[in-house]
Amino acid sequence: MFDHPEFDGHEQVVHCHDESVGLRAIIAIHDTTLGPAAGGCRMQPYASEADALTDVLRLSKGMSYKNALAGLRLGGGKCVVLADPSTPEKHALLHALGRHVQSLGGRYWTAIDVGVGPADVDVVADECDYVFTRASEYPAGFDPSLFTALGTFTALRAAAEHVWGTDDLHGRTVAIQGLGATGRDLARQLHEAGATLVVADIDRAVVSHVVNAYGATAVDPATIHAQPVDVFAPCALGSVVDDDTLPAIGARVICGTANNQLAEARHGEALRAAGISYVPDYVANGGGVIGAAARIYSSPTLDESRAAVARIYDTTRQILTRAAAESRPPSDIADDMARRIIAAAR
Ligand code: NAD
Repeated sequence: MFDHPEFDGHEQVVHCHDESVGLRAIIAIHDTTLGPAAGGCRMQPYASEADALTDVLRLSKGMSYKNALAGLRLGGGKCVVLADPSTPEKHALLHALGRHVQSLGGRYWTAIDVGVGPADVDVVADECDYVFTRASEYPAGFDPSLFTALGTFTALRAAAEHVWGTDDLHGRTVAIQGLGATGRDLARQLHEAGATLVVADIDRAVVSHVVNAYGATAVDPATIHAQPVDVFAPCALGSVVDDDTLPAIGARVICGTANNQLAEARHGEALRAAGISYVPDYVANGGGVIGAAARIYSSPTLDESRAAVARIYDTTRQILTRAAAESRPPSDIADDMARRIIAAAR
């Protein structure tokens, strides 16, 4: 593992096994300089254990940077469970996982991610104290993913201000890839702000909902990145910017909720060279952790959490302004800023 291409001095990587329920999971704690490691738990039927390890090493490092730039007193960690989230054994798996997270004594706090929702985190909490984003912490119907969508909307407005001199989105066109928990609410906010939407999702039901509710135009998911729009908002998958998609991207700004949007770090420079302003993914989607994870060490109200998410506006402006001044990709600037915050604390 120490030679793994995604290994970045991670403090601790724990392989978790519970034969009685078939649990196979990996917890990666990247850095705890700023505080306990905090990051979600992803449940996915990985093709191999190697794929799961790659994912958790990369995601946990991303959480260190995300939490640092979000101004949180939290380090970076992440957990992956090698299982199909629709398995009837999910409840038992979450309980077994909770016992493993508990055994780390608070070095790692877990939360929602792909395949694990707020109600699932309540199940983990039966066995574990170190959880956030529990459904039971919020008013009925409130999903902490809404903090993420609010943060991405805020970052998108800041990017518009940087590129066009105004954050008024009336008349702007935005292509949204993925209309799940975050993409759907981003669509709502953009529609209310006067933007025109082009959308794609592999789930036809969510597409027709957004088309009907917000007057969006639906396109083939394979072409969403290539739409001639002002902003491309990836809200589904990672690695959407690669050698194949990049030449076809029609937008001036990329800002979405998805994690790991660049297939490789070098695509940050390629976007800059193409004149596209990229809001680094972990800045654009930091609203979830800002809104939810501060509960680990304080007790903010929903309104206070929403107000905290608003600071993404200034962070985004600062990163894009510095990137322009130094002719460097915003993704490199954000990494530098996060590393400096951690180094100063160390
Ligand atoms: P979600 O599972 O609710 O929604 C994802 C949507 O993408 C689904 O509707 C799915 O059908 C669609 N999709 C899948 N493949 C697609 C494709 N090829 N083309 C178009 N659509 C496709 O997930 P979410 O919670 O909205 O998260 C979306 C992304 O944001 C993920 O990368 C996640 O890691 C990241 N993220 C989410 C949060 C959060 O608070 N939920 C926080 C930070 C980052």
